[in-house]
Amino acid sequence: MIGIKNPALREAYERLYHKTPLGFYNCGRLCDGLCCRGDCQGMWLYPGEEELFRDKEGFEVCETEGNYDYPMVICSGECNREERPLACRIFPAFPLVTEDDGKVSVEVIYDPRASMCPLARNKKPLDRAFIKEVRKAALYLARDKEIFEYMKAVSEEITEIIELKNKLEGIF
Ligand code: SF4
Ligand code: SF4
Repeated sequence: MIGIKNPALREAYERLYHKTPLGFYNCGRLCDGLCCRGDCQGMWLYPGEEELFRDKEGFEVCETEGNYDYPMVICSGECNREERPLACRIFPAFPLVTEDDGKVSVEVIYDPRASMCPLARNKKPLDRAFIKEVRKAALYLARDKEIFEYMKAVSEEITEIIELKNKLEGIF
């Protein structure tokens, strides 16, 4: 994508440009393009993405109280694939990051917030090449201190959501 100055962000965008959750199969056929209908709640932006979408036609950047003080972007439902935000490139997966003694580990999981996605609901196996690129992209993103702090915070939040879901499943 043209104009991305941050090298970690640029690498992640490029790595996830062609990759999709089911590889060559367009998963939008399973759900009639559910996540690209322009009626979604918006996509959380990673640090550094805001400037890519501000004043861009077809996108509206909105302030929000969530997302660790970073904004979200709402799209019109049509975009140039090259310009999709990271959240769309990664959806419905999420790279869960942890740090141990300076070593960063990434586990690519289904995002528990992606319950509207039939792939996530049915835990359909994701394309291995997609998983590999999400993981590599996450490792690049982790090189940027601000982005890494953000990813760690979201990872903790997602881990809590998963733990809560598991507990509730045990109750009901
Ligand atoms: S909701 Fe899931 S299956 Fe549907 S297009 Fe989005 S990622 Fe693919
Ligand atoms: S930015 Fe593009 S890929 Fe993301 S939800 Fe909108 S239309 Fe779909």
